[in-house]
Amino acid sequence: MSQTLTESQASGATTAMVEHWIDGASVAGSSDRSGPVYNPALGVEQKRVRFASTEDVDAAVQAAARAFPAWRDTSIAKRQAVMFRFRELLAGRSKELAAILTSEHGKVTADALGEIARGLEVVELACALPEYTKGEYSENASSGIDVYTVRQPLGVVGIISPFNFPAMVPLWFFPLAIATGNTVVLKPSEKDPSASIWLAHLLQEAGLPDGVLNVVHGDKIAVDALLEHPTVRAVSFVGSTPIAKYIYEHGTAAGKRVQALGGAKNHMLVLPDADLDLAADAAVNAGFGSSGERCMAISVVLAVDSVADAFVGKVRERMARLTVGDGTRGTDMGPLITREHRDKVAGYVDTARTDGADVVVDGREHEIDGDADGFWMGPTLVDKVPVSSAVYRDEIFGPVLSVVRVEGYEEGLGIINDSRYGNGTAIFTNDGGAARRFQREVTVGMVGINVPIPVPVAYHSFGGWKDSLFGHAKSYGPRGFDFYTQEKAITSRWLDPSHGGINLGFPQHD
Ligand code: NAD
Repeated sequence: MSQTLTESQASGATTAMVEHWIDGASVAGSSDRSGPVYNPALGVEQKRVRFASTEDVDAAVQAAARAFPAWRDTSIAKRQAVMFRFRELLAGRSKELAAILTSEHGKVTADALGEIARGLEVVELACALPEYTKGEYSENASSGIDVYTVRQPLGVVGIISPFNFPAMVPLWFFPLAIATGNTVVLKPSEKDPSASIWLAHLLQEAGLPDGVLNVVHGDKIAVDALLEHPTVRAVSFVGSTPIAKYIYEHGTAAGKRVQALGGAKNHMLVLPDADLDLAADAAVNAGFGSSGERCMAISVVLAVDSVADAFVGKVRERMARLTVGDGTRGTDMGPLITREHRDKVAGYVDTARTDGADVVVDGREHEIDGDADGFWMGPTLVDKVPVSSAVYRDEIFGPVLSVVRVEGYEEGLGIINDSRYGNGTAIFTNDGGAARRFQREVTVGMVGINVPIPVPVAYHSFGGWKDSLFGHAKSYGPRGFDFYTQEKAITSRWLDPSHGGINLGFPQHD
């Protein structure tokens, strides 16, 4: 794979620079703005990333627009063949990508490989594009008339992704966008930008024509340039709720098709008849995996009073065994993404105390197997959290698990349904009737029954409700194919002797 970084001078020192990828080549662009890329386990700036100007984004969009006609007209079989090759390359070289994720995001190697595996599922789904896009056909809908539908690509689409899944979230979108014949400009998170560049190289190796996937880096300037560009037909966004709302409102106002997935605060309801060991395992895995930096993390457990003490005891016991440190050393949890974010997360422990919660485990005191300057925060458990507290209300996006005690099912359900977020939720119970009621009554887009992180498999679609998704279009699965294609209905008659003559009435069937 060719070199992705060029050397440039920053602050007098030589620092590797992550460049854009436009028309199949590394491009420095016209802007001298750049941002830091840290190694969070060391707490040092390891690279810088170029921030695109409006002109740089325009160059990427123009490259995508030039590539579109030929790619759209490339046969399904050939597009599918690129995806099959990409799938094989990605599966074979996932360890290389995992090392990049650990280096820039901090997540531990096993978690990085898990992220890639879930992204790979969507590449496999993209290989199934003929099945999902083949349209419908009605022969002889009216005498001598056939009606059929075809699905065609939109054109240039923009994808804007968050820091927490630098490989998986781009992979939720671009394989389907590309397989269906669109061309793409991807703007990954500026905090961990190298995974996208690595994937773009791999697609080129898989035979993707230049210009079909372009990557620009940057901040609001790059995002706004994509949102406002008249050639961009659709935007897929994943990130925090305020930005998702902004993207949806501005993108749709500019006439684009927009799917904008936002933030989350996911609740797990533990009923008295639950298997408490299973529930405690699930809470620890889903609360502290990826250091809580997952949109499907469980951040609140609603524990029914009668079992809450036992449940908290079991969770605490498991937390004592968790190891925190450098993700390359086989630890359970890595660092947080930046020092600023780490400090913000740590501040919630004090907020919890002030608001009257019990701090059962303070993650700031956890032993660390890593460099002293890393952005560390150990697993934290706060019990008896009032729902009025910011610890309950805010999306903390770190390893802070709150327990809110409830009297029973009704109170627990009410709290979940009152939340502004509706991404994921889970119920732990051995009562099938309670579980069935929960799945019907809860106002959340993805529900787990004795499963803590109910991220749907690739052939179902992913997305929340309420402030966790703006627009109705979920990502990947059948809804993903819908989002990146537009349906055309064709009514056709091949001339036969039964010519109907002039009739100005609205067409009816005969
Ligand atoms: P973020 O909203 O800060 O950034 C997301 C993207 O938006 C990045 O590419 C960033 O460069 C860009 N951006 C940031 N500020 C912007 C602005 N003012 N104007 C325009 N663009 C801007 O999110 P993040 O911190 O990178 O990621 C974490 C968030 O993403 C959490 O809220 C998490 O819940 C959410 N998330 C949601 C899902 C989901 O499926 N719903 C999945 C992953 C992450």
